[in-house]
Amino acid sequence: MGRRNCPKTGLGHPCRALTPPMITLGPRAAAGLRGQRNHQPPMTELLANRLWEAALGQLQIQVPRPTFDTWLKETVGLTIDEDRLVVGAPTAFAAEWLGKRMPTLIEETVEHVARRPLEVQFLVHQPQPLEPWQSPLEATASAAARPPVGAPSGTDRRQATALCSRFTFDSFVVGKSNELAHAAAQAAATQPVGVYNPLFIYAGVGLGKTHLLHAIGHAAVHRDLSCLYVSAEQFTNDFISAIRERTTPDFRARYRGVQLLVIDDIQFLGGKEQTQEVFFHTFNDLHNAGKQIVIAADRPPRSLATLHARLNSRFEGGLIADIQPPDLETRLAILRAKATLAHVRVDGEVLEFIARTVQTNVRELEGSLNRVVALAQLTRSPITTELAGRALADLLLARRLTTPHPEHILAVVAEYCQVPASSITGPSRDRKTVAARHLCMYLLREDAEMSLQQIGGLLGGRNHATVVHGIRKVTQTMASSHDMREAILTLREAVHTDLRKSA
Ligand code: ADP
Ligand code: MG
Repeated sequence: MGRRNCPKTGLGHPCRALTPPMITLGPRAAAGLRGQRNHQPPMTELLANRLWEAALGQLQIQVPRPTFDTWLKETVGLTIDEDRLVVGAPTAFAAEWLGKRMPTLIEETVEHVARRPLEVQFLVHQPQPLEPWQSPLEATASAAARPPVGAPSGTDRRQATALCSRFTFDSFVVGKSNELAHAAAQAAATQPVGVYNPLFIYAGVGLGKTHLLHAIGHAAVHRDLSCLYVSAEQFTNDFISAIRERTTPDFRARYRGVQLLVIDDIQFLGGKEQTQEVFFHTFNDLHNAGKQIVIAADRPPRSLATLHARLNSRFEGGLIADIQPPDLETRLAILRAKATLAHVRVDGEVLEFIARTVQTNVRELEGSLNRVVALAQLTRSPITTELAGRALADLLLARRLTTPHPEHILAVVAEYCQVPASSITGPSRDRKTVAARHLCMYLLREDAEMSLQQIGGLLGGRNHATVVHGIRKVTQTMASSHDMREAILTLREAVHTDLRKSA
């Protein structure tokens, strides 16, 4: 790649501080792409896949979650050429919907990632047993994965969801942030139904809920248990069709005839009284018959305000496990695992750079790695930290723009804890105030990335050791207290939501 000096900084590469990286297909690379159609997996597939993964990472932030989950989540990048990216959707309906309803947003996002305009075309694509980034080991695993035993057969396949072959327990990296959810998921899939029924897993977006639910499905299928995995949205659609087509007895039989029912994104039932009612009865019947139920949501049961209290108390009756954003060590382990799966060698230093840049969402972490690798492949450059910096330039910029202001954190915590902000920064040693101060210290460090000294200064001139103690106190309490984890989740949501509103 030719190097020009930046006209502004005089440094060895063009100044790209505020612009996303340019991915251009040089004639050599393009010829390479065209020439590799017969190889396994073709380069075009890998590139299309990575480019689309990166675009999905951005689309996920831009479109409402139900829209993303329904239409975009199951799509895959298939091939790419000079001016067109072909994306596979699981059904003709989804392909048509995406082509008609979102072309501008999608093409703008793809252009943003690829830094050149590309027409995006949607086709129906049934997942192949061997995905381009799969290792032979994974391929063996996916070949063994039959469709869920409890899945409907014959013509009635509306709500059948194939389990994603990549989402297994083997490919799930366990760290402090997800060990409880992981252990509980394994138990739910392999042990006799017991205290973990229902198992309720909650976490923010992109933290591995769906991955764990699919892993449960794989493990159950492996043990010849009939298992049905559906999203709450599919459950709703299925129920609506059953009413319309007068097939509610089939609907009942289908959902009640399984040994394990796995329902994703239960928050989708919020406000849908009739579907909730049906779900409640399905739940009770299965539960009474000693069948395992696993549920995932984006928040804890008691925060699912629009779900009927009856349902919430049912959920509270089992085991509730959350997944927190992964710590640096886990993020690194995840990146290492993903790089190995993709058969790309990436230096530890580069992985650490990515892990430090992307902190809260594993999907985004994966998308970032894909993006770095895609830029390196498209420009035929080695994967260095400098290249990773360019590939993630807009992410870095977005992070700067979305880092909450310290005063804002202070105000949010003050309101949450019902203590005046002036007390938090003042001398008071009242218990409630001290607790609020500790929360501030934690969030200022984690979310505003301030130094210990800066935090001490903002909070009324407190010294380094006091700040360390405050942060440690919150971290330790989080390890053992559900309430503390929930408080942090709520506060983070408030801190970042307000930020988006004011952006
Ligand atoms: P959610 O359902 O919570 O929004 P997903 O389960 O869809 O998130 O995860 C998003 C992506 O991140 C998936 O590709 C998944 O494989 C990956 N992922 C999340 N957590 C882990 C983990 N602990 N180990 C490996 N991959 C993970
Ligand atoms: Mg999910």
